[in-house]
Amino acid sequence: LRSEVDRMERLSLVGQMAASITHEIRNPMAVIRGFVQLMRERSQESQQEYFRIVIEELDRANSIINDFLSLAQNRMIEKESCSLHDIVQELAPLLWADANLRGIEVQLELSEHMPQLMLNPKEMKQLILNLARNGMEAMEQHGKLRISTTVSPDQVELRINDTGVGIPQEQVDRLFEPFYTTKSSGTGLGLPLCLSIVERHGGKIRVESAEGQGTTFIVTFDRHVNS
Ligand code: ADP
Ligand code: MG
Repeated sequence: LRSEVDRMERLSLVGQMAASITHEIRNPMAVIRGFVQLMRERSQESQQEYFRIVIEELDRANSIINDFLSLAQNRMIEKESCSLHDIVQELAPLLWADANLRGIEVQLELSEHMPQLMLNPKEMKQLILNLARNGMEAMEQHGKLRISTTVSPDQVELRINDTGVGIPQEQVDRLFEPFYTTKSSGTGLGLPLCLSIVERHGGKIRVESAEGQGTTFIVTFDRHVNS
């Protein structure tokens, strides 16, 4: 027990350090981005491309920092009684906007009997958004993203399904590893963050995927532990 307490203390110290370091890095990066943007606007045509790449890479570094911060903070979550559906509904406009840009259709199939659960709404949004964005990133135009819920006496299940490229079996085991990514501008922190959010809510997350057909991430929450 003693060593477990030591481990938790060390972890929370690392988390606090990570939080302050990332804050300190974000500020100068914002200044750099501002000036690079200005330089881009005043640059010659032939140099615009360089500035575009600089800004894109700055944004990538920024998203690594943001994702890492969310992961490292491992917040003591404040849960409140809320409906998963309200959370999905609040996210919907963001999802439509993302999907529209990519020519993807979004379908919501929400169970009629959703009970109230003890959840942290902000973290739930982060979870759903991360899974939905991964789904969209796995699809070409005309893909379909489906978000559905089912309620059983013991559990609430949330499914995020896409008709995308699918995940080869040998990659499935690595999905939740920090920094594991197959994307040129990915961070590999989205799914580790999802896993930690789900675990902090006492839930489970699993994946079903068929190459060339699509992927479903399935999150389950226990109604009784949770309510
Ligand atoms: P990132 O999105 O930055 O790459 P994630 O942790 O969110 O990091 O995802 C890790 C990897 O898992 C992705 O790079 C991709 O290879 C795979 N992946 C996640 N979700 C899906 C999905 N819906 N369809 C296909 N591959 C996926
Ligand atoms: Mg991702």
